[in-house]
Amino acid sequence: MNILVINTGSSSLKYQLIDMANESVLAKGVCDRIGLEHSFLKHSKTGGETTVIEKDLYNHRLAIQEVISALTDEKIGVIKSMSEISAVGHRIVHGGEKFKESAIIDENVMKAINDCVELAPLHNPSNIVGIEACKQIMPDVPMVAVFDTAFHQTMPRHAYVYALPYEIYEKYKLRKYGFHGTSHKYVAHRAAQMLGKPIESLKLITCHVGNGASICAVDGGKSIDTSMGFTPLQGLCMGTRSGNVDPAVITYLMEKEKMDISDINNFLNKKSGVLGISGVSSDFRDVQEAAENGDDRSQLSLDIFCYGVKKYIGKYIAVLNGVDAVVFTAGIGENNDYIRREVLKDMDFFGIKVDWDKNEVKGKETDISAPDARVKTLVIPTNEELEIARETVRLIK
Ligand code: ADP
Repeated sequence: MNILVINTGSSSLKYQLIDMANESVLAKGVCDRIGLEHSFLKHSKTGGETTVIEKDLYNHRLAIQEVISALTDEKIGVIKSMSEISAVGHRIVHGGEKFKESAIIDENVMKAINDCVELAPLHNPSNIVGIEACKQIMPDVPMVAVFDTAFHQTMPRHAYVYALPYEIYEKYKLRKYGFHGTSHKYVAHRAAQMLGKPIESLKLITCHVGNGASICAVDGGKSIDTSMGFTPLQGLCMGTRSGNVDPAVITYLMEKEKMDISDINNFLNKKSGVLGISGVSSDFRDVQEAAENGDDRSQLSLDIFCYGVKKYIGKYIAVLNGVDAVVFTAGIGENNDYIRREVLKDMDFFGIKVDWDKNEVKGKETDISAPDARVKTLVIPTNEELEIARETVRLIK
């Protein structure tokens, strides 16, 4: 059974075709600059070449059409016809309080996803366009929506309600939702497999650390708290996002710097974080290089970042009343041994001890704990697409 996984952004569309018989990726790619000049599709066939096709992709429907053409192409394709696609799994950013699980897409589900647009105005509209485009081209193929927020819907009320007047929560559903749920869920289940224990028996802290970063406390396979909030701005300092700041900073800056709502949103989401502190880059590789060459602000940005991750781990050990394993995933979590070391050093009070040689691993499932560690530390590459494909199969069956 082949599942097509689609992740639509405002001007991009990423896809993977996965053969669920052995969970292998047959082909993957991205349509970029949709609706803009110089749009193109980059398509890679597993074990084959990567092809870049320059094509006018005026809208997402044309992009999906091009993806199907590539997938069924005699030379670069991997299937003979569209009928070999059993279902489509769509990544949807926000499912609000309505979606505690993935859902088969029908009219009611579409309406409910539309209702969540207010909560994720930058993301859900593109996701909806992606679904509509697929529906036009593959009207008879079942589709499933998999939400970034769904995994965190198990958080208890005291973890997700903000200390604002309660009517505001009731009126706007303004609360903590959390994101990266598909990734946290995937690595939590992989961790249980690596540890050879049922997930129901485990307390885990999963650190999804990439450009966007969030930490999750997972108790018995269920998210009980996470660092991102109403939007993906809360929590850790990130590549370009501020993470937690005193909320009074916002009104202060709006007054002093004469910023309006759009300015302040842009400031906190795009100009802050590691980029804002270092003034060098949002990419940790560049910032690290600058720090190694003596740039003080770059070093400061890395220190602030690592300090933030460390504090969340401590906080979630308290929340979970212990921890069996800490898991690192995503671009930085999987590849950056410096960041892992700075976060994990001096945590032996908690039973966290790392084998610093093993810590040098990049992008490979590895138990990096020292032999006498009470708490395991694991590096697990995330695979959100596979998790979406698994959810899709589970639902259509
Ligand atoms: P996004 O949130 O955009 O998906 P990623 O998970 O791709 O972000 O993470 C991007 C970050 O991961 C960058 O700051 C980069 O420094 C780091 N990164 C990605 N790949 C590598 C690598 N091979 N080696 C070291 N760092 C990497």
